[in-house]
Amino acid sequence: IAMTADKAAAAAPVPTGPRILAVGSGKGGVGKSTLSANLAVALARMGRRVGLVDADIYGPSQARLLGTEGQRATAHDGKLVPVESAWGVPALSMAHLSAAGQAIAWRGPKISGALLQLVDAHWDGAEVLVIDLPPGTGDVQLTMLQRCKPAGAVIVSTPQDLALIDAARAVELFAKGGVPVLGVVENMAGYACPHCGETSDPFGCGGAESAAADMGVPFLGRIPLDIAIRREGDAGTPTAAGTGPRADAFAALARQVAA
Ligand code: ADP
Repeated sequence: IAMTADKAAAAAPVPTGPRILAVGSGKGGVGKSTLSANLAVALARMGRRVGLVDADIYGPSQARLLGTEGQRATAHDGKLVPVESAWGVPALSMAHLSAAGQAIAWRGPKISGALLQLVDAHWDGAEVLVIDLPPGTGDVQLTMLQRCKPAGAVIVSTPQDLALIDAARAVELFAKGGVPVLGVVENMAGYACPHCGETSDPFGCGGAESAAADMGVPFLGRIPLDIAIRREGDAGTPTAAGTGPRADAFAALARQVAA
C-alpha cells in the first residue's frame, strides 16, 4: 500500500463493488459500532455475503467486537486484504493495520484517503459492505457521501433528546447527499433489571420513533440496554451470532435493511 492518501483521494471514484450500507450516528457512545457489527453478523446469517469496514479511523472498535484483535490485514496488488472473523464477516479496521496500516495512517495526511483504502480493498464477492462511520458529520462522512455512493444509511440514536438532535443532523447530511436514509434505530431503549425484572428507561423510550416520524424516515426498531450486549461485544462474540430474543432483534433489523 504505497499509495498516499492524497493520491487516493484524487483517484477515480471507488469502483462499484458491494452495495454500501453506511451506519452513522450524530454522537458517540450510542452503540453505532455495536449495531454495525451485529447487523453485519445478522446479514451473514441470512446468507448475505457481507464485509465490515470500521471507518472510525481514530477510534476503531470492530476488531474487538468481532474478536479479530491481534489479526493483521495484508496487502495484495496495492490493495488491503480484509481479515476473516469467526462470524462469516471479513473486516477491515485501523486496528488491523498496525504494520501495513502505518503507510495509510501516517503517510497519508488525510483521513479520507485512509477511508478509501479500507473501502477499496479486496472485498471479493461481498454483496454488502457495512460501514461503521465515526460519530458526527465530518470529513469521513463527506468522503463517504461524495466518493463511495452508499446505497443507504442507517442512523443509530439513544432515546435521549440530546442524541436525537444530533441524529437529526446525521439524517439531514445523508438526505442532502442523496443517500436514502433506510431508517433510525433506537438503541439502549429500556433496561430490564436482571435482579427484579422490572423494566426502566434510563435514556427515555420512544423518542427515536417519534423523531423518525417527524423527519419522515422509517423507524427500524429498538434494541434494549442489556448488559449481555455489552459483555458479548467486549468478548468479541457478537450477540447476533447467538440465539434468543436479543439475537432475534438484530435479525429483524437485518431483514429490514436487506429488503
Ligand atoms: P458508538 O459506536 O456509538 O460509539 P459503541 O457501540 O462503542 O458506541 O457502544 C458504546 C458502549 O455501549 C460500549 O461499551 C457498548 O458495549 C455499549 N452498548 C452499546 N449498545 C448497547 C446495548 N444495547 N446494551 C448495552 N450496552 C450497549
